[in-house]
Amino acid sequence: MTDYFEYKSGILHVEDIPVEKLAEEYGTPLFVYSGANFSKNLKELEAAFGDVRHLLCYSVKAASNISLLQKVASFGMGADIVSGGELYRALKAGIPSGRIVYSGVGKTAQEMAEALDAGIFMFNLESSEEMHLLSVIAEDKRLVAPISFRVNPDVDPLTHPYIATGLKDSKFGIPIAEAPFLFAEAKKIPSLKIIGLDCHIGSQLTSTEPFTDTVKILIQLMGSLREEGINIRYLDIGGGLGINYSNEVPPTAFEYAEAITKVTKQLENVTLILEPGRSVVGNSCILVTRVIYNKVTPAKHFVVVDAAMNDLIRPSLYGSYHKIVPTNQLGVLPTKKVTVVGPICESGDFLAKDRDLPEVLQGELVAIFGAGAYGFSMSSNYNSRPRAAEVLVDGGVARLIRQREQYEDLINGESLLETPEDDILGAKL
Ligand SMILES: *Cc1c(COP(=O)(O)O)cnc(C)c1O
Repeated sequence: MTDYFEYKSGILHVEDIPVEKLAEEYGTPLFVYSGANFSKNLKELEAAFGDVRHLLCYSVKAASNISLLQKVASFGMGADIVSGGELYRALKAGIPSGRIVYSGVGKTAQEMAEALDAGIFMFNLESSEEMHLLSVIAEDKRLVAPISFRVNPDVDPLTHPYIATGLKDSKFGIPIAEAPFLFAEAKKIPSLKIIGLDCHIGSQLTSTEPFTDTVKILIQLMGSLREEGINIRYLDIGGGLGINYSNEVPPTAFEYAEAITKVTKQLENVTLILEPGRSVVGNSCILVTRVIYNKVTPAKHFVVVDAAMNDLIRPSLYGSYHKIVPTNQLGVLPTKKVTVVGPICESGDFLAKDRDLPEVLQGELVAIFGAGAYGFSMSSNYNSRPRAAEVLVDGGVARLIRQREQYEDLINGESLLETPEDDILGAKL
């Protein structure tokens, strides 16, 4: 529970609005964001870095709804994007192109061209081939592409292997030992302008050491680059700050900023770039779902709910823990050990396994916490399930920021064969 997701007289509220009311109005499964919580997290990070020169670039992939991005824009912050689609969203939401950094290991020629045309702030490059392709595209356009290289410092972020990105066998980044050669090569290319050095070592980090270890390695590299006449003005330290899902105690924004700035304060004329995602939106949203059935087998008690792995894949993908609570505490029933599952035809479709939960009856609502980051943005239409609606509660008002998909949306872009069915059958006979 936080200040924004709280029981009031036994009824779970998002800010001042009862979750039950939202579920009635908008249906379930339903993602409900607290705008106040989202803004607070952004402002806290901003304040934590205070006077230290920095640019906060919200990681769009964590939660990409354009209403959320609009809030980011309203604070004068930027975006970290990983695709042409995210560039499109960020620009639609009013995030200035000059505050957009572009990450990712597989930017296509078309995506690079779009980003160049938009005039983004920096391309975080990840390979020699990518560097050469970008230089050619920029040259064709008679533009100069501002770049950094994402280096892989080989630091263990002590997180789930699927979200660790800075170890030497990772697909991400350039091995630190090769970085000087690539920088030297880029320096010789007129259509590229080196402005930064970048990293992102993983997600859901719960201590500051992997961050500070990484930054120290990067600062060392900056020193040797300077000797080669390469001046790094922007140090992009990526995202990755963890949140509390169950009993983790991640650093606060202030502890995080303090640890980093302690290491970076020796730098002169360097602006830090931060790419937070999860720490901003993770705990700013719940997924509200209704119990369809209780199914008791000799081995297990399954609570079958109307949300599934297509709505929130983190438990299935990473074995992640998400707190689940009934939205109504009044007359709450005794606790049972249950497994909460969705309707999808996969054994991996679960939201909680063998969890002690107060018994919830058919038709009742439960809230799944920590659903903001990599929740809706990772959702799919698997099993031809229309994607859930998203609601943003802000200042006492609830707004539908994404409609629930309809069946027609499921076949959008598909077409029926033109050949009449008779002909198809005829051909086979
Ligand atoms: C995903 C990602 C982020 C955001 O990570 P969080 O753990 O959500 O803060 C930042 N930078 C890059 C390059 C990413 O891929």
